[in-house]
Amino acid sequence: VKLTKRIKALLPRSIKLRIKRALSIHGLRLRGTCPVCGSGATFFGFTASMRESGLCSACGSFNRQRQVAFVLRRTIDVPMTGALRLPDGFGIYNTEARGSVHTALRKHSGYVCSEFFGPEHVPGATVRGVRNEDLQRLTFPDRTFDIVLSSDVLEHVPDPYKAHHEILRVLKPGGSHIFTVPHGPLRDAARAKIVNGQMVYLAEKQFHGDPLRPEEGAFVWTDFGRQDMLPTLEAMGFKMSIYELAEPTFGIIGEGAIVFCACKAEPN
Ligand SMILES: [Zn+2]
Repeated sequence: VKLTKRIKALLPRSIKLRIKRALSIHGLRLRGTCPVCGSGATFFGFTASMRESGLCSACGSFNRQRQVAFVLRRTIDVPMTGALRLPDGFGIYNTEARGSVHTALRKHSGYVCSEFFGPEHVPGATVRGVRNEDLQRLTFPDRTFDIVLSSDVLEHVPDPYKAHHEILRVLKPGGSHIFTVPHGPLRDAARAKIVNGQMVYLAEKQFHGDPLRPEEGAFVWTDFGRQDMLPTLEAMGFKMSIYELAEPTFGIIGEGAIVFCACKAEPN
């Protein structure tokens, strides 16, 4: 159900309430511990878009953010309850500078975050108070971070495997890239490519909501398929782990609760 703002404004309150109820999974409330904030909380407001809904009453995190935080805590061996404290000297790079995971990590001294504001901005420069980084040409030195986080980001990068190469470069040996991407079981499919500096569309244009680009949204370049993505990343030098999560007591439910962990192999 998609209604324009103008139509919504014309509807009487009772109908608005009925629509709201139809859009939320009726009565679904879970109690448990939130892996993002580490507090006891209620998770509510799940909709048919399960990954993107179900708010934590304590920090406002939604399902997908809890999935990433759950795997992060597991990977660095931090208990699921209590604030997300990272070891001293620990370097962590978040490829977004907003949201509940960002809020939970921002006080840590080794925390770095960025957004991509477009090719017209210098990589590494500060734009509107936030570091600008193009994942395809990161400005960090080799072996800087213990953890890199990206959650539904790589499908918006024109050459995602170039970005994976860069992430591999900036990870310390033994470090991990914890990430989510919308994906299917089969092959990767590009929706567009750049030929002689021009964008050529190979499939229907698709956009995801993007707070930085509220008008047009973020273009989806790639539909990932595990059959292509996993061997490509293994060949690059990552050891891949796949977490298929069903953790209702941590506010994680529904299909597609899948988090990838790409660990940079230690040198022999
Ligand atoms: Zn929370």
